[in-house]
Amino acid sequence: MKGLRFTCLRGCTNCCRERGFIYLTEEDLSRAAAMLGMGRRAFEKRYVYRTRHLLRLRKPRGAQCPFLREDGCGIHPAKPTQCRTFPFWPEMLSDRKEWTEAAGYCPGIGRGPDVAIESVVEAACEMRRSYPGMYGPENRA
Ligand code: SF4
Ligand code: SF4
Repeated sequence: MKGLRFTCLRGCTNCCRERGFIYLTEEDLSRAAAMLGMGRRAFEKRYVYRTRHLLRLRKPRGAQCPFLREDGCGIHPAKPTQCRTFPFWPEMLSDRKEWTEAAGYCPGIGRGPDVAIESVVEAACEMRRSYPGMYGPENRA
């Protein structure tokens, strides 16, 4: 089975500007805090909104993400799982309309080499494992 063509284009930040929330795992929180030289608690207090089942980044006024800079992601090596696995999210792989919508703002979809199907499936599985509060245990791969 063939993979999907995708490459993330240098200098593009379109997906970071799309409306929506950026969810974190506990590990994402630890990694990002460490990268910024902050403790977990201080990072959470400043950047994170915690609900019963999910953690998400607080949105600054007029922006989608507190770490978006003109030239890219300010925490690139420690960016959250959902940012790292985009565009191979389960809901986008299982719904052609969602995939086509994403291709409308992501110029990397349909470009570059084929991404091996194993990598695509692993990214989608990682999303399900990482965000059970979003996908629910009954939906896990
Ligand atoms: S929209 Fe696509 S090409 Fe642009 S930064 Fe996001 S993943 Fe990369
Ligand atoms: S954390 Fe980085 S990659 Fe994710 S939305 Fe924010 S700026 Fe973009």
